[in-house]
Amino acid sequence: MSESEQAQFDLIVVGGGSGGLAGAFRAAEHGARVALLEPSLLGGTCVNVGCVPKKAMWLAADIGAKLRMAQSLGFAVDAPPQQPCELDWPTFIVHRQRYIAGIHDSYRKRLDKAGIVVAPMRARLLDARTVECENGARMGAARILIATGGHAVKPAIPGAELGGTSDDFFQWTAAPKRVAIVGAGYIAVELAGVLQALGSQVELFARGQRLLEGFDHELTAQLADDYCQSGVRLHFGHAVAALEADGARVRVRGADGALGEAFDKVLFATGRKPNSAGLGLENAGVELDANGFVRIDELNATRVAGIDAVGDVTPDPPLTPVAIAAARRLMDRLYGGGSAKLDRNDIPTVVFAHPPIGKVGLTEDEARARWGDNLHIYRAGFRPMLYALAESPQRSLFKLVCVGQERRVVGIHLLGEAADEMLQGFAVALKRGITLDDLRDTVALHPTSAEEVVLMR
Ligand code: FAD
Ligand code: NDP
Repeated sequence: MSESEQAQFDLIVVGGGSGGLAGAFRAAEHGARVALLEPSLLGGTCVNVGCVPKKAMWLAADIGAKLRMAQSLGFAVDAPPQQPCELDWPTFIVHRQRYIAGIHDSYRKRLDKAGIVVAPMRARLLDARTVECENGARMGAARILIATGGHAVKPAIPGAELGGTSDDFFQWTAAPKRVAIVGAGYIAVELAGVLQALGSQVELFARGQRLLEGFDHELTAQLADDYCQSGVRLHFGHAVAALEADGARVRVRGADGALGEAFDKVLFATGRKPNSAGLGLENAGVELDANGFVRIDELNATRVAGIDAVGDVTPDPPLTPVAIAAARRLMDRLYGGGSAKLDRNDIPTVVFAHPPIGKVGLTEDEARARWGDNLHIYRAGFRPMLYALAESPQRSLFKLVCVGQERRVVGIHLLGEAADEMLQGFAVALKRGITLDDLRDTVALHPTSAEEVVLMR
């Protein structure tokens, strides 16, 4: 097909996940003619094997825990005491997947309405203006957005094929009796909490000495205590050297050579890598960094004029709202006359642990590295009312990191019931440069957990 016969667009978006869809919709809103290529399910990682099904499972686990508390408070809950309330996974999964199918449906309708041409195919770049689809069809455009996301990686150890990843977890239809989780980051902590609450006996193998590197150490230490209390066995400083089959089960061999007990399932939650291979990026001259991420500047532009990249395929924090925000601002600049760019400072983030843990701004250690001892740290440790009523030991721990005489708030760290819902508003405040006095000047909402943030002394 000659160039003149190729379908021509203003923008081709490669990848229909969080970043790609957000970019395609925003560009089309500004009047651009857009084509989107996505070989798999619309919504990418977040909708299909990430945030959405994960949050659904977290909600199921949370309901189970609340049912147990309800029972202790006098509600007629028909479940044997001292054990997790049993969940019929297939029933729950029908609801989870119905919710996800609704998202797919809504995307399809919005894409149609916006006049975006969708090709359900993998794409590769032939040059900086031309994309080739799996079926050999070619498309041309003035601009190309790379939004191909990432994928889970397993460590290169013997027997790694015996373990799964978060993608496999979302295929499960029952809680395995015994599960080993390798890793101590977001996914390891989230899935460990969910599975333990849903009835599995979970053991977590961390090669380091703590959970959630990058989060406040006091909060993660308390979270580790919470996990131990709920029955999760945490193995710190335990590098996994191999997996070995034991009939249908799997044993974990440590770096010291010791062979552990058998598990029904092993999950690797050992990080993700960008989907940047096989995309023909070299044909267009797009550069990758040493870790395979597409190199971008602060405006999400690659070094090739007309090619931009957003989301997990770039070195930006791998979070859905980051991919979406970057894509929307990019399209506003390219097609809408806007000038805003993604502010990579003070991005709030929450880990859906049991209980959830969230942060915005700097940890105490990060602030100390920048300002030395010119810091003021405030803490509130308490038992949320429901947990106190139900005589459950779970406590919350909130922490503020403030700088200088004016006590500017540079870090807010929340661990506890509803921390996930609380953090968003406080993240706005921190971004606006508030001081401790601003928080103290705000009248509390009582009785809530959130009031502890404005009452800290
Ligand atoms: P993706 O959503 O991965 O989309 C990329 C798309 O590109 C995919 O659909 C893929 O099929 C497509 N693609 C790949 N190659 C090609 C090609 N050659 N041609 C065309 N298309 C291609 N983030 C949060 O903010 N909150 C959470 O609670 C959260 N939970 C998570 C839980 C898990 C288990 C995981 C794995 C991730 C979670 N994340 C969460 C991270 C979040 O899912 C990602 O940051 C987000 O999906 C990245 O969006 P993206 O558009 O960059 O990539
Ligand atoms: P993370 O980067 O959070 O954690 C990876 C973990 O794996 C770390 O504990 C790391 O240890 C460990 N690890 C890496 N390699 C090995 C190895 N060879 N052997 C043993 N352990 C190893 O990655 P995740 O996969 O958990 O999640 C990927 C990203 O997805 C997150 O960074 C997050 O941005 C996003 N996400 C967001 C969520 C949310 O917003 N709630 C939820 C889930 C994912 P070490 O620290 O020692 O390197």
